[in-house]
Amino acid sequence: MSFIYLDHSATTPLRDEAWAAMAPYFGSTEEKDTPNYGNPSSIHRAGRAAHAGMSEARRTIAEILGADSGEIIFTGCGSESDNSALRGIALARRKQCGANRIITSAVEHHAVLYTAEDLKDFFGFKLTLLPVDGEGLVDESDLAEALGDGSDVAVVSVMYANNEIGSVQPISGLGALCRERNVPFHTDAVQAAGKLPLDVEALQVDALSASAHKFYGPKGVGFLYLRRGTPFHPFLTGGSHEGRRRAGTQDVPGIVGMATALAQCDSERDREMARLRQLRDRIIGTLLETVPGVRLTGSRSQRLANHASFTIRDAEAEGILIALDLAGIAASSGSACTSARQQPSHVLEAIGVPADELAGGLRLSLGLSNNAGQIELLLEKLPEIVEKQRQIAPAPL
Ligand code: PLP
Repeated sequence: MSFIYLDHSATTPLRDEAWAAMAPYFGSTEEKDTPNYGNPSSIHRAGRAAHAGMSEARRTIAEILGADSGEIIFTGCGSESDNSALRGIALARRKQCGANRIITSAVEHHAVLYTAEDLKDFFGFKLTLLPVDGEGLVDESDLAEALGDGSDVAVVSVMYANNEIGSVQPISGLGALCRERNVPFHTDAVQAAGKLPLDVEALQVDALSASAHKFYGPKGVGFLYLRRGTPFHPFLTGGSHEGRRRAGTQDVPGIVGMATALAQCDSERDREMARLRQLRDRIIGTLLETVPGVRLTGSRSQRLANHASFTIRDAEAEGILIALDLAGIAASSGSACTSARQQPSHVLEAIGVPADELAGGLRLSLGLSNNAGQIELLLEKLPEIVEKQRQIAPAPL
């Protein structure tokens, strides 16, 4: 049976080019000549070789962001980047000027949302959650009102693109409001990296999180862009790695693979996103037309080119996903991180999805391996699957 992978928002396969770039940095116990597997902090040639690979990766990523190399901090994943940004900036800014409030949105990934709640519950910060409209978008006027003059705000964090519903926030406008008030602005760009421009000047952000496994890099490595001069208290303390902003020996092969993958996505972005947008629109147009009770979630116009998400009335996501899997199609109910729980999604609740549709979320996220033939196969199978699921399980929540 052929396998059709439509879950690229959960994770992506490693690109061959990234793997090829990484391989020399793993080293081998058999290696006799000068190896690349040294600790990048070591003085000897093996350490210097690893350090050189890491520095080149840092330059590559910085260039894509329009940043300086010194503004890139390597981390262990997107969640760590988000945690570092929120905790690091909030604590430092409170110490610097007494600002004690965090502003974020109701549709953030839990890596941001739970971190903000933790800062409230255990560190005494106040928390303001921005509402979103029916498409999952934050209104600039809501942020302006929440900011006031900004003097009591430690940090603002609004995600660039949403993992569950694909909506793309007006980041540069939100950033401008923060900048006018000298309030640090962080964006979780984990779903956007590789698909949308990351120019930090144009976006007007002070901090930006990304994770390699979402753009065909390896799992277990990410980065945080932190604008020079932004108040920051390190989340991980220990050695002097990453300019004392993140202790721990760096994952050099992972970092090299991440930079290679991001550079490749960046250079192909316009062409690949135009291709995926066509496939996405074919999915959205056909499903809305052919399956009754299906509703698109998120914005139609302000959305990731590779992302289609729906609610399906009177059907349970789990049953649909299992039936799709049996047909060789990998999809998701929305967020890989919440799919193990039976709780309704906070994102769907925030955009006002009615209770009888909350159980039927479906996310189809496209990527490099997908083609038009696969999408036609999906569109052939899905209506039957939904119909069958409705007969089996009229889903009360
Ligand atoms: N932020 C968003 C928007 C995500 O979609 C994810 C993962 O799905 C994360 C953060 C966490 O990234 P990681 O899995 O690398 O920790």
